[in-house]
Amino acid sequence: MSESSHYRGRLAPSPTGYLHQGHRATFAVARDRAQVAGGELILRMEDLDAARCRPEYTAAVLADLRKWGFRWTEGPEVGGPHAPYVQSERRAYYLEIWRRLRRLGFIYPCDCSRRDILLAGAPHLEDEEPIYPGTCRGRAVGTEEPTGWSWRFRVPDGDSVGFTDGAEGRREAVAGRDFGDFVIWRRDDVPSYQLAVVADDIAMGITEVVRGADLLASTFRQILLYRGLGASLPTFYHAPLVRDPEGRRLAKRRP
Ligand code: GLU
Repeated sequence: MSESSHYRGRLAPSPTGYLHQGHRATFAVARDRAQVAGGELILRMEDLDAARCRPEYTAAVLADLRKWGFRWTEGPEVGGPHAPYVQSERRAYYLEIWRRLRRLGFIYPCDCSRRDILLAGAPHLEDEEPIYPGTCRGRAVGTEEPTGWSWRFRVPDGDSVGFTDGAEGRREAVAGRDFGDFVIWRRDDVPSYQLAVVADDIAMGITEVVRGADLLASTFRQILLYRGLGASLPTFYHAPLVRDPEGRRLAKRRP
């Protein structure tokens, strides 16, 4: 098998709380798929949300993963060719991606508040952000840094974006109807989840993304980022969410 076709999967926990059985089940799917493919599993700590992430959660996440028998060949503490494996230490890389998207004309600065968007935006599914009404689409600013604005990716209105999920089969969404221009850099000067996860999955050579089904809708946005950056797509596998006996999604465990 050539290097480029070698399976590389990842575990990407956010240390915003303690892991629960839902995370464990999803990570087990990721581990099993990597094992069956004879590939590698890497660990990446997704700690960009400074308001919610805490060092004690990071330590607990690592300890629980080890206790549950997960092993990885690259990651925090272990190191590897794509270090650092901690998102809060990868800002320079995200900035480079922001610059590329900017140069290629895919993104624009926006200063709309959440309230502006709710008032002007189209109706949206529960769990989904409102469709951005496009207020700032024509805006241009001469800046070499993203700081001071939120930055949105301009989606190709009317284009169908699709992929075949390993668990859920064919999925399609229409840009501008099912989802709108999405934030890639937040006003508090942090790259968004969408940008960081795609930047890292590309940089780390991930060939299959295994994660919970709650993130399936993000995949359409992420596919547009891959395309914009001219990167080849990984495959996607969205594992069913574990629910409690009342059918509710599990929340992060309390300390
Ligand atoms: N860090 C994200 C989470 O814990 C997962 C990101 C991903 O797998 O794309 O929800």
